Amino acid sequence: MKHLLALCISLALGLAALPARAEEPAQLKIVTSFSILADMAKNVAGSRASITSLVGPDADAHVFEPGPADVAMLAEADILIINGLGFEPWLVRLAASAKSKAKFVTASYGVKPIELEEPHHHGHGHSHGHTHNHGHSHDKDGHPKVPHDFDPHAWQDLRNGVIYVRNIADALAEKDPANATLYLANAESYITELKKLHEWARAEIGRLPTEKRKVITTHDAFAYFSKAYGVEFLSPAGIGTASDPSAETLARLVDQMRRENIRALFMENMGNPRMMETIARETGIEDGGTLYSDALSAPGGPAPTYVAMFRHNVPVLIEAMQKN
Ligand code: ZN
Repeated sequence: MKHLLALCISLALGLAALPARAEEPAQLKIVTSFSILADMAKNVAGSRASITSLVGPDADAHVFEPGPADVAMLAEADILIINGLGFEPWLVRLAASAKSKAKFVTASYGVKPIELEEPHHHGHGHSHGHTHNHGHSHDKDGHPKVPHDFDPHAWQDLRNGVIYVRNIADALAEKDPANATLYLANAESYITELKKLHEWARAEIGRLPTEKRKVITTHDAFAYFSKAYGVEFLSPAGIGTASDPSAETLARLVDQMRRENIRALFMENMGNPRMMETIARETGIEDGGTLYSDALSAPGGPAPTYVAMFRHNVPVLIEAMQKN
């Protein structure tokens, strides 16, 4: 009988103890601007946060148009993580209409940005219309250009990825101090993985002779990759994706490919494959597959994480460049 009473008491205490759990800090609601940041945040937060991305897998952040669901998502968020460097021109208006009280984190803060000299840099003779502040310039076909002063694609250098992760971890630790140790420890082990991946990418690409390391891809998303890993990227579209290149630009690129015997040609997972299909037809070159540049693949695809993106991109680049 005594035992039963004791059991009853402990059960009652057990039940009484339950509401105390609700007083633990609630899970952080993290919203990121695009999928690569969502994956980084997940590596830092583990199961301590719910993470959603405004621009999803295989989608193009350059030309994203937020809808009412995005406003609602942002209104609820504790932390908003963005790339910065002009990658999310739609964000200021979105944050204002969501009346967001979220802590803003610019993941690229502290990165050494690559400055854009011109909307595209393939040595065109015509300089008209290329304003240097890129405020509301139009390209020669009259399409409005997305304003950019810096190249935003800094995550394509894994050393910059390390900076992104540190910024994300610091912000989470500040917003949720109870779990700060966990976030910082998660970040450090993830950073170790990114550093190893960086060395691997350098070594793999480094085996190819320099003159073979040339690639054609849809838009200028790989300038940081180019600098970090020693591959020259040429693209017909320039830095944004909002406008199509002119026939003249395409023709010049095709000429250059023939002259320099470049056979490595790639599609990107976000954006329109039409241009690359035209070039492939013109040159009779088969494309080398898909590069993941500005977005991850869906889960189950070839690049569902930031790490998987490099593990996919590096070997397909090397395979195609060997044919140059
Ligand atoms: Zn891009």
